[in-house]
This record gives sequence, C-alpha cells and structure tokens, in this order.
Amino acid sequence: MPDRWRRSREYLERARQSLTGGVSSPFRAKAPMPLYFAEGHGSRLRDVDGNEYIDYLLAWGPLILGHCHPRVVEAVRAQAGLGHIYGAQHDLEFHAAEAIQRMVPCSERVAFTSSGSEAVQLALRLARAFTGRRLIVKFEGHYHGWMDSVLWSYKPSEGDLKGGGPSQGSLGQVATSGDSLLVAPWNDLDAVETLFREHGDRIAAVITEPVLCNSGCLLPGAGYLAGVAACARRHGALVIFDEIITGFRLAAGGAQQFYGVVPDLATFGKAVGGGLPLSVVAGRREILELMAGGGVAFGGTFNGNPLSLAAAVFTLEELERNDGQALVDANRLGTDLMRRIQEVGRRHGLPLTATGFGTAFALHFTQRNELRSYRDTLDDDAGLLGRCLLAALAEGIHTVPDGRFYVSTAHSAQDIEETEAAMDRAFQSIKA
Ligand code: PMP
Repeated sequence: MPDRWRRSREYLERARQSLTGGVSSPFRAKAPMPLYFAEGHGSRLRDVDGNEYIDYLLAWGPLILGHCHPRVVEAVRAQAGLGHIYGAQHDLEFHAAEAIQRMVPCSERVAFTSSGSEAVQLALRLARAFTGRRLIVKFEGHYHGWMDSVLWSYKPSEGDLKGGGPSQGSLGQVATSGDSLLVAPWNDLDAVETLFREHGDRIAAVITEPVLCNSGCLLPGAGYLAGVAACARRHGALVIFDEIITGFRLAAGGAQQFYGVVPDLATFGKAVGGGLPLSVVAGRREILELMAGGGVAFGGTFNGNPLSLAAAVFTLEELERNDGQALVDANRLGTDLMRRIQEVGRRHGLPLTATGFGTAFALHFTQRNELRSYRDTLDDDAGLLGRCLLAALAEGIHTVPDGRFYVSTAHSAQDIEETEAAMDRAFQSIKA
C-alpha cells in the first residue's frame, strides 16, 4: 500500500530533532501521526503529500469562517502594510470591542489577550479581587487552559475520581494551586449546592464551559446553567462562562445568548479572531474597571495587536450581520451532519451516539443512551473511536483527535453529502 503520508513522515522526523515530539502543542501529537499541511481554503485543507481533506478540525476551533476567507485575508494584508503592532492604541480595538458589546449580553466592558489560557487567568483574578474571596468552583472534564491554577480534574481517571478532590493535570504543577479549587461533577445542581452550603462565603466564582465541549460536547440539562448562576449569586459569588469554544459559534452572542443565562464574566477565544490569535474577557463594567486604577494588574505585549484585531473586526461583522444568520445556518448544517453520521454508524451496527450542537459535536461509541457529564464518557470505546477517525482521515475527513467535529460558515451542503459518504466507507472499513 502506498504511504499516503510519506512527506509528513519525513518532515516529522526532521522536526523531532529541534522540536520536542516534532510539534508546537503536545495536544497535536496524535494518531496516526502529526501531519504537515500546505494549504487551506474554505472548508478544505491539503497536506504536504497532496491529500485533500474536508476540514472539521478548523485549527481546533478558530476558523469559524473557514480557511483564508478573502475578506479576512484582505483585512490582515491591509493592516500588515500599516504596522503589525504599535504597543499602543488604535481604532480597531474599539471597533472590535463595540461589536462584542452589541453581540454578547454580558459585555459591558471588554479586554483583549492573546490566548484563552491568559483570558481565564484574568477572569479568575478579577473575580477574586471583586469578591475578596479565594476559592473557585470548577467541573470535572472542563478545560480552562494549561496554567497551574486551572489544569485540575480535566481528565481524571476512575481512580482519581474515587480519591475525591482536584486531580493534578501535569507534572511540575505547583501542587498547592489545587487548594484554591473545589471540583464538582457537571450537570448536577445538587453537587454545586452542596459545595456552596459548605464553603459558600469563601467562593469567589464558579467557572464552567456552558457546553462541555472539551469532554465530548455535552449539553447542559434544562435549567442547569440558570440553577448554577442562581446558587452562586445567593452566596455572593460570580459566574464565569468559559465561552472559548461556544463563543461566536453556538450563536452570535454565545451560549449566554442561546441559553438566556448571562454570566458576570465570560472568556472568549478561538472564533473571535477568525483564525488569528485573540482572546477576550468580557463582563460587568464594575468588575473589569478594577483594571483601571482599581488595583488589578494585567498586561501583555501582544494584547489588542492590530493584525488580530483586523481579522476580528471583519469576522465579527460577518457573524453579526442579519441577526447572526451565518451561524444559524452553519449550526443547522452541522446538526444535519451530526444526525447523518450517527444514522450511518448505527446502520453499520455501531453503538454510535453524536452529542453537541451543529458547529461543535463529538462522536461517542458507547452503550449509553444519554451522556450528561465527564464521568459518562469514561466507558466510551476509545479504541473503536481511534480506528474510526483513522479510517475517516484516510477517506479525507479531518477531525479533532478526540472525535470532535467543528463546522464553519464555509462548509456547504455538498461537503455534508461527501462527508456522509466518506463516513459510510470509513465505518464499513473498520467493520472489515
Ligand atoms: N478554555 C476553553 C474552554 C478551551 O477550549 C481552551 C482551548 N482549547 C482554553 C480555555 C485555552 O485556550 P488557549 O488554548 O487559547 O490558551
């Protein structure tokens, strides 16, 4: 059989001599091997061996308008000729911030950072400063960046869960950083209420992905987000939605608009910059204003850089137009794809369940009818998923290695048809 990834393999061997594991983010070092890419346009991606893919990785989320949207390219090109970075103010900052204010319900004020991990750190600092409290409630399976303060109980094992308490995500992490966290299973309001009954007057905030995208795209139960918010507020704590995936994706105003639950603070990233590095903290005026002489320190050389903001201004304009119709359409298309893949898989006799929403969903091989929390994903058949994704990749379907599919406004009905047929062949081949 010809080696369809021969050149990627050569590049990887070379890269391993200078980059640990040959990659820039260890999350990317996944089966069958890290591939090297040459070009992306719209929903399509081409690797260095000339293989073409329909791209559902979308750079792990940012490419909400697809690759190389002509107007994003033009906006970045135009700005590049005027100055890449000033380390000072420019008008794209307030144009982007005003668009975010119009779109996102909680955003009385906006701050820009470069990465989502940083945005979360700022949100937590603001919450602690505002409340004068130390503890943060987070949930099992939720990812809020790789920093010491939050990389706890992201992928706890069965053993970790039995042990109780936050479980460390990395060697080298300051072990006491977990002391500032209380960890609860998600989608279980009683668990949150119990934590607040015991520690309520010491909790600064609850942080949650409003849809659990990082552990299988699980949706919040009816009334759950509102229940968590009400409980936190009864105890004088803040609510932080980590919308780094759901923002500018689930709806133009994010999960907070979609579910009608407005947090005190929210973090955004990925889609907001249309593919350039940009993240955001948005929230109540009196909380963010603590950075303007209120004693909360914050900085960042690349904050609000003109290239990212140029891409953001155009991306937001595109997403805001016609009351957010572009995302309504992309979510509808994605929902159709999610249903079709599930049906095709089941027709092949596979125990397949697809969860999530149209522009971010995930495949699970499980006997369960319903998945509500991280613990429910622990008996997913990871081996079967891995074989399925590898077969899909060979059929030209490029996904997130954990079984997630991101869909953009650039994906078309034709892409969906082709993907359904490709998944049909992939499922057939793993049965063989
Ligand atoms: N929060 C969530 C919900 C995320 O999905 C991510 C990234 N996957 C982060 C925070 C961290 O963002 P970044 O990788 O940009 O630091």
